[in-house]
Amino acid sequence: MEHPENSEEYKGLTVNSGVEQPAIINPYLNRRRFRRRVYSVAEMVEGILKGDVTILSQAVTLVESVNPEHQAMAQEVIEKCLPHSGKSIRVGISGVPGAGKSTSIDVFGCHVLDNKGGKLAVLAIDPSSERSKGSILGDKTRMEKLSTRPEAFIRPSPTAGSLGGVARKTRETIILCEAAGYDKIFVETVGVGQSETACHSMVDFFLLIQLAGTGDELQGIKRGIMEIADGIVINKCDGNNVDKCQMAATNFRNALHFFPMSESGWMPKVLCYSGFYALGIKEVWDMIYQYIDFVKQNGFFEYRRNEQSKYWMYETINEQLKNSFYHNLLVENMLQEAERSVLKGEQTSFAAAGMLLDTYFKQLKTENKN
Ligand code: GDP
Repeated sequence: MEHPENSEEYKGLTVNSGVEQPAIINPYLNRRRFRRRVYSVAEMVEGILKGDVTILSQAVTLVESVNPEHQAMAQEVIEKCLPHSGKSIRVGISGVPGAGKSTSIDVFGCHVLDNKGGKLAVLAIDPSSERSKGSILGDKTRMEKLSTRPEAFIRPSPTAGSLGGVARKTRETIILCEAAGYDKIFVETVGVGQSETACHSMVDFFLLIQLAGTGDELQGIKRGIMEIADGIVINKCDGNNVDKCQMAATNFRNALHFFPMSESGWMPKVLCYSGFYALGIKEVWDMIYQYIDFVKQNGFFEYRRNEQSKYWMYETINEQLKNSFYHNLLVENMLQEAERSVLKGEQTSFAAAGMLLDTYFKQLKTENKN
């Protein structure tokens, strides 16, 4: 058939007729066989409970999806998995880029699997992905040993959405992993800001990796990260760095004395180790298990998890209210003008915010009436 764009109207444009698709040369290549199977909620839950990694990965993709249909399905799966979750030890691991998180998680992971058995899931909260569209924690190939172990499930950070949204997805992924029988969960995060707080709010033990002699000691204190750390470990304590690390450890120990007693009654410990040479790993994990025993005995373990559940309920409400406001068409249309008028000094920030909120609430009311 002659292409419609070859008519007189489209002068200067000639569209050649297409060529027919050649027949598939490889008789074994049947495209349909490669199509990913779509599972129902019940099938997904059954697969997850059986520990099927393919289905678990698909469920996590569903959790991370921004498609409302996927999200609704993900919520159903999570709800059904919830009664089977919670039976794990969740450890948050944070440190600035280059502190040695990947190297350490590789040896930490192998250490706990070798000594405690069970299964390990490594998840991440990466706040960089949203702004730069690039990921600091995306390169999971660095965990060379761990990634070859069948008992380990390594998943990079979800990339879409605000930090709160990304963190919520990581928390939901924890539930799925626990239902799939992963009894050790590591949540990795970059120590560059708010992400530590998000990570702290979903783990039982928060481990802060520091380096000696970078001036980071003080930064940790300034940003209040040390207050939320249950353990501080100084990495790269090897070669001629040993003395510096030990000195840094002493400084940290001294600084910790100035902080108020933690709610759990646990005094955070400071240890030196080398992730690269696998030195001092046992001591780090002995400390973590000692902490878990301590808080399980005094009831703080349960208390912290309950507080976290509450925190995530409010976080989810906040997140969804914010989304509803900013995705409101009227608000979207008025936002730029409001911003301009604030910058020009025609309106105060508060008046502009009040006007936008009023518009939003009025529209909600009229929608409800109709
Ligand atoms: P991340 O950005 O925090 O994940 O850090 P990486 O694990 O990628 O490590 C950053 C660099 O530090 C790499 O070149 C590692 O080889 C190096 N490194 C990690 N751990 C150690 C260690 O214990 N000792 C020494 N000397 N180097 C290390």
